Amino acid sequence: MNIVIFGPPGAGKGTQSKFIVDKYKLHQLSTGDLLRNEIKNKTKLGNEISSIINSGELVSDTIVSNLIEKFISNKNFKNKIIFDGYPRTLAQAENLDSLLKTYDQKIQIVLKLNVSLETVKKRILERKILEKRTDDNEEVAIKRFQTYERSSAPVLEHYKQSNLVKVINGEGTISQINTEISGLIDANKG
Ligand code: AMP
Repeated sequence: MNIVIFGPPGAGKGTQSKFIVDKYKLHQLSTGDLLRNEIKNKTKLGNEISSIINSGELVSDTIVSNLIEKFISNKNFKNKIIFDGYPRTLAQAENLDSLLKTYDQKIQIVLKLNVSLETVKKRILERKILEKRTDDNEEVAIKRFQTYERSSAPVLEHYKQSNLVKVINGEGTISQINTEISGLIDANKG
């Protein structure tokens, strides 16, 4: 099954994706990780995007779409992907639909993690100590949250139309959220 995990920065998408990958033997496709790798490896693309990422804005749809096609077209990952941080705009959701169609795949479930801005700020400051991400500070966290609020509604609306969205309370503990997610995935598998 292909899964989309959706939610604001600091919602726990990465943490929960890793848990889902282990439990259901899927592959995590995190566009944030792919982009950070480009910056770390000082590629031409990395140089172009570092200031955008550090300002809390989204990089262009074209850049991220190019990155994900390699993954979707890989036969080893067919129908075994968890999309973490993609799609973030309606254009990306439409692009994903068309790519999945090309490679004869579909999305089974969209998990939406709900968390408040207060929780986002708290988690991002905790994560900064552990992961040292350059975009993890309070000012950029607020900006990223606002970017999410602005761009997420049409994406959710898109998936609601196909009845794929399951909302999860992202304020709980990691293990409470694990349990809720497993229940939803198991029910979906039938
Ligand atoms: P994340 O690790 O998912 O929080 O992403 C970190 C940053 O990478 C975001 O704030 C954006 O600047 C950029 N980014 C990640 N995924 C996308 C995407 N699907 N579209 C545009 N920008 C993205």
